[in-house]
Amino acid sequence: SIRPPESKQATTLLVAVRCRPLTPREQARSRDILRVVDDKVVFVLDPDVSKDYLDRVQNRSKEKQYVFDVAFGPESTNKDVYEKTVSAMVGGVIQGLNATVFAYGATGSGKTHTMAGTEDDPGLMVLSLQKIFTLIAKEESKHEFEVTCSYLEVYNEVIYDLLEKSSGHLELREDPDQGVTVAGLKRIQVNSAEKILELLKQGNSRRKTESTNANATSSRSHAVLEIIIKRKQRNHYRSQVLHGKLALVDLAGSERASETNNAGQKLRDGANINKSLLALANCINALGKQQKKGLAYVPYRNSKLTRLLKDGLSGNSRTVMVANVSSGGDQYHHTTNTLKYADRAK
Ligand code: ADP
Ligand code: MG
Repeated sequence: SIRPPESKQATTLLVAVRCRPLTPREQARSRDILRVVDDKVVFVLDPDVSKDYLDRVQNRSKEKQYVFDVAFGPESTNKDVYEKTVSAMVGGVIQGLNATVFAYGATGSGKTHTMAGTEDDPGLMVLSLQKIFTLIAKEESKHEFEVTCSYLEVYNEVIYDLLEKSSGHLELREDPDQGVTVAGLKRIQVNSAEKILELLKQGNSRRKTESTNANATSSRSHAVLEIIIKRKQRNHYRSQVLHGKLALVDLAGSERASETNNAGQKLRDGANINKSLLALANCINALGKQQKKGLAYVPYRNSKLTRLLKDGLSGNSRTVMVANVSSGGDQYHHTTNTLKYADRAK
C-alpha cells in the first residue's frame, strides 16, 4: 500500500468562529455581547462600555469588529457549522487526501458541543462519518473501502487510548509507509455513523478531568478522533490502495495559552501552559502566514499533538479551525483573546 505522493501544494486553512448562545441560567446573570453579521463578521461589545440594551444600540460604534472566513451566530446548529466547514473536505478524504478539523476556545465555549454534540444535535465528528458513508455507498460498485477509527487523548504530553477502559501511556512511532502512528492504539472498523456517538460518549467519559473544578472538565486534555479510509479499485489486483485521513480534534481549553499568546510574548513552555496547545497555535499561525505569503517553516516537532497531526497539517491537506466563543458578557476577556488569535491565524 502506498500513500499519495508528497505534494508541493500548500495546506489550505479555513478559519471559522462560532458563538454559542447563553444557557437559561447564564441569561439570568450575564448579557449577550456578540452579534454575527453576514455569516462573516463578529461584533463584540465591551460589557463595561454600555450597561443596557438601548444604550448598546446607540453605542454600536463602540463595538469591535472581526472578519473571518465564516462566522456562526448563537442560533446556528452543528449541521450549519458542518455544511460550511467540513462538508466540502470529506470528498477529498475518500480520494486519499488528509484533512484536520480543530475546535479551539476557552473552557465552556462549546468545543465539545461542536465536535461530539448530542443525540438531537450530533456534532462534526458524527456528521463527517455520516457523509463518509453516504459517499462510499455511491462509489461501492467501483471501489472497495475500509473505514477505521481511533480516539485518543493527549494529556500532559502523554497519549492515552480513549477506546480502552484503562489505557497505559502510548508512544508515537514514525513509520516509513504509514507516517506517524501511535503504537498499540486501538483502531476499530466502523460500518455506520450511528455507532460512533456511543463510542465518543464512552471515550469522553474517560478523559482526564481536573477534580478541583467541576467546570474544568477535560479542560487540559486534547481528544483526537482519527478516521482512516482505505480505498482500492475493485477487481484490480494491482490497484494501489489510497489512504485518506480525517482528524477531528477537541482541543484543551485555550484560556491559559491565549493570555501568553496575546501578550505578544514568544510562545514557550511554562508550568501552567499546555505545550501541545501552544505548539499547535504556532503551527496554525505558520500555516496562516504560508497561505498569505508563500511557504513558511511550520514547527511540527515541538509537541506530541503536532507530531501526531503533521500529515493532516502539511502537504496537500486541508485544515479547518473552528474558534468557539460564548456570547456572555462575563466571558468578554476569553472571547476577545480567542477572536484575536483566530483573526491572526486567517
Ligand atoms: P467546552 O467543550 O468548550 O468546554 P461545552 O461544549 O462543554 O464547552 O459547552 C459548555 C456548555 O454550553 C454545555 O452545557 C453545552 O451543552 C452548552 N453549549 C455549547 N455550545 C452550545 C450551542 N451551540 N447551543 C447550545 N448549547 C451549547
Ligand atoms: Mg469540552
